[in-house]
Amino acid sequence: MYNIGILEIKVTDRLEDDRHLNIKYTAEAINRPVCPTEGCSHGFVPNRHDSTKYLLHDIKSEGKLVYIELLIRRYKCPECQAVFSDTFSFFTKRPHMTHRLKQEFVNICIKGEPFNYIANDYSVDSKTVSAAFQEYVEEHQKEPNIQYTPEVLGIDEAHIDDHYRLVLTDNKEQRLLDMKRDNHYKTVTDYLKALDPTICKCVTMDFAPRYASAVEDVLPDAIIVIDKFHAVQEVNRCLDNVWKSIQRTLSKKGESIKRFKYSRKLFMTNWEDLSSDAENRISKWFNEIPELYFCFCYFGVCSHKPVLAVCIQVPPIKHVSLFLGCGK
Ligand SMILES: [Zn+2]
Repeated sequence: MYNIGILEIKVTDRLEDDRHLNIKYTAEAINRPVCPTEGCSHGFVPNRHDSTKYLLHDIKSEGKLVYIELLIRRYKCPECQAVFSDTFSFFTKRPHMTHRLKQEFVNICIKGEPFNYIANDYSVDSKTVSAAFQEYVEEHQKEPNIQYTPEVLGIDEAHIDDHYRLVLTDNKEQRLLDMKRDNHYKTVTDYLKALDPTICKCVTMDFAPRYASAVEDVLPDAIIVIDKFHAVQEVNRCLDNVWKSIQRTLSKKGESIKRFKYSRKLFMTNWEDLSSDAENRISKWFNEIPELYFCFCYFGVCSHKPVLAVCIQVPPIKHVSLFLGCGK
């Protein structure tokens, strides 16, 4: 009658409240169970004994809260007199909700929504949401870390709980490999030592010299690449510093910086997209402040050339080539 995607039940009715906020389906087992007593004859339909109803909370549909009123029948075997019920595996009894709703809570939690917000949205207790998430965390903590050597290893860190945690990724397969308690040199080298140096050909990272020297020490043949996100971030940071220093110089000279600020958009435009009037205006600026010309060239380089080694003012790292455009 109604298909709500749960194979164990047949839905016999659908009710919507007057304000169209909730949907309630009435459902029952699609198949009757057989007598569970060992050695008892099977294959006949047992007699009905009595029944009970569960109201289960299910995932939303069309943005509305969904409930399933499930009829659970009890049966009595005419042969051995055993009493037994319909059995289902699609919901939890405490609290009454479907497994798929529990999974939905976990998915939303992973996206970073607070427990209270989810609880309000689904009209449940926030303890229900936090318990679902806690259960998920406990299950996954038992899973072993992925232990293999990636061809392209990504090293980065995440700031969690007031600590920098080392994050290791397989960049080719776009997969998280491991997360460590800290990002100390020893933690990095311990991880690298467990890898097969004949497989790991390349390691991507940010500008932290600690990661580069760890790779140089443990995997001397691997190519170190500063991934483009960190490279562009660094270029932008450098450009920003130049920008601020020009503003300070102008202020010191007693010149208005308003005119300069208004022109910022001009410097962010590709040369080929500039009108002839804009070209004249930008050329005037370049004559006035030559550093701007270099910034403009860098900006152009960073946004256009797919692979290019550039030299910018960063802490010196030995044997590191900076390739823009590498990494995903
Ligand atoms: Zn029986």
